[in-house]
Amino acid sequence: KAKEAGKDKYVVFDQYLNDIFTERMYIEKQLYLALEQDEFELFYQPQVDLALNKVTGLEALLRWNSPELGYVSPLKFIKVAEDSHLIIPLGAWVLSKACTFLQHLHEQGFEHLTISVNISMLQLLQNDFNELVLNTLESSGLQPHYLELEITESIFVESYGHVSSKLNELRTHNIKIALDDFGTGYSSLSYLTHLPISTLKIDKSFIDSIPAGTNKATLVEQIIMIGKRMNMTVIAEGVERKDQLDFLQEQGCDKIQGYFFSKPKAGKDIEQLLADWEMTGITT
Ligand code: C2E
Ligand code: MG
Ligand code: MG
Ligand code: MG
Repeated sequence: KAKEAGKDKYVVFDQYLNDIFTERMYIEKQLYLALEQDEFELFYQPQVDLALNKVTGLEALLRWNSPELGYVSPLKFIKVAEDSHLIIPLGAWVLSKACTFLQHLHEQGFEHLTISVNISMLQLLQNDFNELVLNTLESSGLQPHYLELEITESIFVESYGHVSSKLNELRTHNIKIALDDFGTGYSSLSYLTHLPISTLKIDKSFIDSIPAGTNKATLVEQIIMIGKRMNMTVIAEGVERKDQLDFLQEQGCDKIQGYFFSKPKAGKDIEQLLADWEMTGITT
């Protein structure tokens, strides 16, 4: 019943879609309510290690099912949450939920798994960000080396020095740092040499160009090579097909994340998937 009412409202809302400002105001208002009313959920997507042929980690991805708006993509609402600063409490919720879920999985016998959590620039710029991370680890019981924070290059453009000292401190606690959407930002290479990056995530837009002999596919080879030379783990995101997987494996890419193995799934479903794959091996 609530779903039906939601659908009707969505149609009304749809008439305003051209008016970006109205839409953003509306989403912002609904976002505030959503946090209060517990409308968010975390999904998890497996990261498969190609050498081990095993799931070694999960990326936590935020989902919002609004009774008013229906499913809203994070590509849309994260931006609004950042602009309105709601990302601060929302990001804290994500971190806590993700660490608690991973600790739960460890207790279910999946004790090698890591968790990757997306972090917005605004979160990282908070004075108490590192404290929040360390406190969250402590209260969830998770050891720091199981946590990886995913950041994007846009972070460094804004506030390089401040952010890099924070990241260095987190690294001393053995928390890992991944550079997300790699290749889509600015002058990526210089950051690599100066920052405590443990993992490079090659953006889907590059993976999409595999395996044709395009310049982008050549770039994938180069990124993998650079990452490996710098002792980083290289993950390819958005892998959907076997031929992409084969290409990446041939080039020595360490890990794969993408629909080829699994879409992001709710906690219960991912737990089931992990259990199934433990019995059968990874199936696609
Ligand atoms: P991202 O961190 O780069 O996450 C990867 C996105 O690619 C996810 O989209 C995932 O569902 C999608 N994806 C993975 N494999 C495939 C594939 O094989 N094919 C296709 N077509 N897509 C694939 P999603 O979940 O919609 O998230 C979009 C973006 O929203 C994320 O990109 C991230 O930047 C942001 N985001 C999501 N959750 C959070 C969060 O908790 N905090 C923050 N700050 N940002 C988040
Ligand atoms: Mg990410
Ligand atoms: Mg990405
Ligand atoms: Mg991203």
